[in-house]
Amino acid sequence: MIKLTGLRKQFGDAVVLDGIDLTVAKGEIVVIIGPSGTGKSTLLRCVNFLEQPTSGELTVGDLTVNLEKASKQDILQLRRHTAFVFQNYALFANKTALENIAERLIVVDRWSKAKAHERAREILERIGLADKADSYPASLSGGQQQRVGIGRAMATGAEVILFDEPTSSLDPEWVDEVLALMKQLAAEHQTMILVTHEMAFARDVADRVVFIEGGRIVEQGPPSEIFYHPQDPRTRDFLQKIL
Ligand code: ADP
Ligand code: MG
Repeated sequence: MIKLTGLRKQFGDAVVLDGIDLTVAKGEIVVIIGPSGTGKSTLLRCVNFLEQPTSGELTVGDLTVNLEKASKQDILQLRRHTAFVFQNYALFANKTALENIAERLIVVDRWSKAKAHERAREILERIGLADKADSYPASLSGGQQQRVGIGRAMATGAEVILFDEPTSSLDPEWVDEVLALMKQLAAEHQTMILVTHEMAFARDVADRVVFIEGGRIVEQGPPSEIFYHPQDPRTRDFLQKIL
């Protein structure tokens, strides 16, 4: 579904990603962990061209793009295959829950307003917020706002959803409902790459855990191996600090 080869990203002289190779199969749930400032967000953002990668190659479905030389057309095509869920929800404050979900369908995918709104209502139903269609973000709880953020990604039908610490801005009381929605998506075999510090969630839901440090993949494997039998001392050290 997704194949990243030799992804590099520099900000000026600082090398943040130093040759990342990562393959994600259809329906696979990959959790990325690692210390703060290690390039996890940058990795997700490069996949979606929210950041311009310095070099590398990305294949999504049958499209392969040289990241250094990607054309506008390539970027648009790549973006159609992926959707992003942000830590801070990034909803439009002046749009209702329904409009937030319909927005990309209308603006990017050129759906008619009627069709986009119909789709948004289906999604609101699936995320348990049918009664909040006409509510603005300010009148929703943090958990509800992030469910709308996830609903917006679901609505696009993107093959891969990228989650960047989707629960880390939430008050603790709202975390479970967001994780429950993500579990629901996982059970539907939605392909997902997610950065999270929710280790219990990762253990229960991930097919694979990838530990990144210093811009490189140190170790990856099923949660049972990474959490209980990490091979690399850097992985052990990190897990000891957070578990
Ligand atoms: P993580 O998500 O693992 O905490 P990030 O991907 O956010 O890490 O950041 C990795 C490194 O890249 C950090 O040192 C950060 O300061 C730097 N960085 C991130 N975005 C930018 C940017 N737009 N300009 C310059 N440096 C950045
Ligand atoms: Mg981050």
